[in-house]
Amino acid sequence: MGQVKLPRISCYVLDFHIEPKSQYFSSKGVLTIKNDFSFEERNIPLLLHYGLSVKEIRHENNVGIKFTQEMISFPEYEELRVNYINICLDLTLKKNEELKLYIEYEGRLYGYSSVMRYVQDSISEEFSILRNDCIAYPIIAYPNYTSLMESCLKPIEYKISVSVPEEYTVGCGGILRNIESKANRKIFIYERSEPTILSHRFDICIAEYCLIRDEDMNLNIFASNKHKDAAETLVKYEVKRVYDYYTRMFGKYRENDYFTIIEVKEGYGSQAGDNYILMEEHAFNNNTDYTHLYHEIGHIWNPSVKLYHEQRSRFFDEAFASYFEVLAIKEFLGEEKAKEKMEEYRRQFIKNVNQNKKNFSIPICEYGRYEMGYNSYTKGPWLLYVLHEIVGDKKFFEIIRTFLNENKKKEVTFKDFEKSCEIISRLNLKKFFSQWLYGIESSSYLYEDFSVSVMVDMSL
Ligand SMILES: [Zn+2]
Repeated sequence: MGQVKLPRISCYVLDFHIEPKSQYFSSKGVLTIKNDFSFEERNIPLLLHYGLSVKEIRHENNVGIKFTQEMISFPEYEELRVNYINICLDLTLKKNEELKLYIEYEGRLYGYSSVMRYVQDSISEEFSILRNDCIAYPIIAYPNYTSLMESCLKPIEYKISVSVPEEYTVGCGGILRNIESKANRKIFIYERSEPTILSHRFDICIAEYCLIRDEDMNLNIFASNKHKDAAETLVKYEVKRVYDYYTRMFGKYRENDYFTIIEVKEGYGSQAGDNYILMEEHAFNNNTDYTHLYHEIGHIWNPSVKLYHEQRSRFFDEAFASYFEVLAIKEFLGEEKAKEKMEEYRRQFIKNVNQNKKNFSIPICEYGRYEMGYNSYTKGPWLLYVLHEIVGDKKFFEIIRTFLNENKKKEVTFKDFEKSCEIISRLNLKKFFSQWLYGIESSSYLYEDFSVSVMVDMSL
């Protein structure tokens, strides 16, 4: 069932009502469902966490829609139980057609920690979190792992409101549009509707957070009271100094952009989304290494990518962010630390090659076709490092700055990047790109532990 092409939810407009004391929540609103495929759809499979049940599904004109729901386990994991909802439409959804469905559901979350360690999502007085990992909001998929994963890769827009008792604050990765106060409750409104930036999920975190703002870079930090000091000083300082550094080197990239950091309880897993990160409690400690923030902030300077398989290669996001992190480490912590980081990337690449030879034999340009974009975190930054060594400091920053600036309102391709590099450096880089981007000579340079200067010689 995994490879079956299904319609997708292109937009979520949901109102959440959270009751931390009774560990309960309800949600209602409109899902926009789109069919990208040429066959007509009549049945739509929807998944929710097993603690949730659907009360109603209807058309916007209030006409009810028939559906069934049953608890069912994934064939791959017995413990992964879901509420499987089958919507029986009274019409067919044709190619490129959209359908808006009104849905109401409610219940509790019990996590899935026996299958996925970090997915402990629940509603509680101390800390609540609702994520797609826990299927806290509807996802169109069949009740099996492959189908669910395929769905989670599809881009979405969302506008959600979250109502909580007034002592609570809601953190989310979207743009915080408004906070309303009403009858001992607060309603937080978040939105993400930027077609050029792909979101795949939204995460809702609820606790008695303090909200630390920085107007300059439109930064929100949601931290627990005990970490207020660290958030206000160390975390904010690191985020701002790296943001300023990238702005200085690459130019201001997106107008009205924003960044959000949300503290999550220990054991719930740190993770990065578009323009936001969920950070576990320990990451607010004084003696913590904050360099992962350099990587995450670096993502603000990612261009939009034209072709799906080039985007999935993760070169223009993960290779860029991973190398930007090294540039920031060099700037703030010195050249030695930067070199250590590059060697860490190399070691990880070699480890991956030893586990699977395909990591060696698939060139960067093909990562997307094989879903091997994780190599863009290791070999990806080495491509940029060797390029940097070839063209020198001045030209390298000029290349990145010009490439990003010229493509602010366009979508880029590998060829565009190649062209920018050659025009600005005034060098013939055919051999370099054939070895690093389109070919695999570069894999052996890394594997055989060549120094960067030897790599430069071999690549020209
Ligand atoms: Zn990243």
